[in-house]
This record gives sequence, structure tokens and C-alpha cells, in this order.
Amino acid sequence: MTAPLTIALSKGRIFKETLPLLAAAGIVPVDDPETSRKLILDTGQPDVKLVVIRAADVPTYVQYGAADLGVTGKDVLLEHGGEGLYEPLDLRIARCRLMVAGRADQPPKPGRPRIATKYINTTRRYYAGQGRQVEVIKLYGSMELAPLVGLADYIVDVVDTGNTLKANGLVPLEHIADISSRLIVNKAAMKMKHARIKTVMERMATAVGA
Ligand code: AMP
Repeated sequence: MTAPLTIALSKGRIFKETLPLLAAAGIVPVDDPETSRKLILDTGQPDVKLVVIRAADVPTYVQYGAADLGVTGKDVLLEHGGEGLYEPLDLRIARCRLMVAGRADQPPKPGRPRIATKYINTTRRYYAGQGRQVEVIKLYGSMELAPLVGLADYIVDVVDTGNTLKANGLVPLEHIADISSRLIVNKAAMKMKHARIKTVMERMATAVGA
């Protein structure tokens, strides 16, 4: 029996938008992750499994070889650092922008502003690269609240339509990076399971281009 090929991905937008690309590679899950409580999903191919995990954990599973392949946002990869991974394919899905945002009614903050974000590494790198002094505060969600209650002067978060910012009286101020989901591959698996991974990559790349 061949060793299974394991693909890590997260529920929600990424899962939905990745499904047609996986289907193009002949990989179709048997269970629906939105209704199933299973964390390991079988597919129509007995030697291909999907693991459904938190988006921020996808690079970690792939880095340590617990999954051979993964699909995750560039925002998550920038924050993780990409150690132990190849990033061979931009899937061009779940596109958005990583931005600095602040209150629409607030003049620029002099001195050393406080920035609330879940992307602390990326945020530190961005400001350090510009030679600007900031204090970075780690949050796990609802970043938009922080400037409204005086926890922070600005936030760094992903923005799609901008509706969430607008609904909270915030405006996008600085563009840090364009974001989309990427296929990532464990470096050892790329060697050990090369033929199978290459086939999946090529079929997904064709579907992205189509
Ligand atoms: P927006 O369309 O700008 O109102 O985005 C709504 C919320 O969804 C934002 O607060 C983001 O945190 C989140 N979001 C938007 N696009 C993405 C994406 N591609 N990946 C992950 N989160 C996203």
C-alpha cells in the first residue's frame, strides 16, 4: 500500500474555494466538513486524506510533515515565516489586502503608536522596515474594536470589501501586502512523494489558470 497523501486546509472560505481546484486534481472529500465533526476527511481516493484545522495551524502541520500539502493565506504564511515549506502555487482565491487601519475621525498619532493585531511578526517587520517605532499588541480577533475603546491607535488586519472597517468608523491607511491563498508543500514530502505531489500541483495549476 502506498503512504497516504495528506492535505491540510481550514474550514470556511478557503475550503469552499479550494474544493473545485482539488476536484480538478481528482480529489473529492467524502464528508462535508461544515456538517461533519471528523477532523480527518476521506476522499474518493483511498490514499488521499484531508485534515481540517485552524488556518493559522496549517503551516505548522505542513512544516512538521503531519500534512504533505496545505492551503493557507499568504497572511498566515508571512506570519509563520515559511520555514520547512515550499510555496509553489498561488491559488488566486480568498484574495484580500493586509492593511493598517485607524479611526476616520482621528489625526495622525505622533510618537510611538500602539498597533493591535493578530499578525505581530508581520507588523513588527513592516514598521521596522520603515524605521518607525511602534508598540504591537497581540489580539486573537475583532481587531476593529481596539481603536474604538482606546486599546490601540491603529490595527493591522486583512481587508476585503472594507465593509467591516467602515461599519466601525475605521478607514484603511497603509497597504502592507496583497493576500491570496497558496498551496504549500513539506520539503521532505516534495522529495519522497514527488510524482504524486507534482501531479496534484500541475492539475491545480491548470485549474487556477482556467
Ligand atoms: P471585509 O469584506 O473587508 O468587511 O472583510 C470582513 C472580515 O473578513 C475582515 O474583518 C477580515 O478579517 C476577514 N477577511 C476578509 N477577507 C479575508 C480573507 N481572504 N481571508 C481571511 N479573512 C478575511
